[in-house]
Amino acid sequence: MAVLSKTFTLGRLSVAALSDGAPMRALGGFFNGVDPAEWTKALGITNPEEPLPFNFGIFLVRGDGHTVLIDTGQGARVRGQFEGGGELLARLRELGVRPEEVDTILHTHLHGDHCGWNVDDDAGGALTFPNAAVWVHQKELDYWTSSASDSNPQSQYSRSRILPAQAADRVQTFDGEKAVHPGMTMIPTPGHTPGHCSVLLVSSGDKLLILGDAAHHPVHLERHDWLPGVDLDPAESTRSRGVVAARAVTENALVTGGHFPILTMGRLRRVGQGYKWEAATE
Ligand SMILES: [Zn+2]
Repeated sequence: MAVLSKTFTLGRLSVAALSDGAPMRALGGFFNGVDPAEWTKALGITNPEEPLPFNFGIFLVRGDGHTVLIDTGQGARVRGQFEGGGELLARLRELGVRPEEVDTILHTHLHGDHCGWNVDDDAGGALTFPNAAVWVHQKELDYWTSSASDSNPQSQYSRSRILPAQAADRVQTFDGEKAVHPGMTMIPTPGHTPGHCSVLLVSSGDKLLILGDAAHHPVHLERHDWLPGVDLDPAESTRSRGVVAARAVTENALVTGGHFPILTMGRLRRVGQGYKWEAATE
């Protein structure tokens, strides 16, 4: 059984790591062009086809007068396909959070597994979180809502998730680094998608850096050139992994990613020219 929900404190904030589905899957697609003997060794497995725990992660952040979601998962489309699939609203209910209470959505990017629940397909396509301002980097919005993404097989679903929010005047954009609320900062980490961002949470000195899809596995933070096959611009995503790794060290932040299994968190340590991932036990 996968962990689908875990609440912890970060300074004055309550943070819940929530899953919209936790399939077991082979991870070879996230090590595009890397010798399987090398990446399997780094992950401690021998068979590249071995299914490993994966997650479609969302973070619920409560405190300082706000109820914030960082990404909104897959949506109802994956219900029944794997453990926890399409069950975000059930996870919120378990925590006593009503969708109307969510006042802010921060999108790391607009792939369909990160904006799925913007729209509730069970409610005729209504906005799931009707009172939320939806924050997304300008370049990300431009890419998915223009002809630039016409040939991207994900564009139809992504557009169906963001255009209704835009039509309802809920979408807010920014360029560069943006503090959406005090201690809640979007940091551009492009490459996976054109306007991909990571999110830095800071509260009473505690720091958590949520990478979205800047890394799909902690080992990507040690090997920035081990490219997820799904990055639109591999050179740019490699650069972003370097930038965000350096930031994690200078901030001494706890680090996690959108697809890391819940409770997979760690810190980065500088080792020579590179970085070492150290799993957190706190
Ligand atoms: Zn993703």
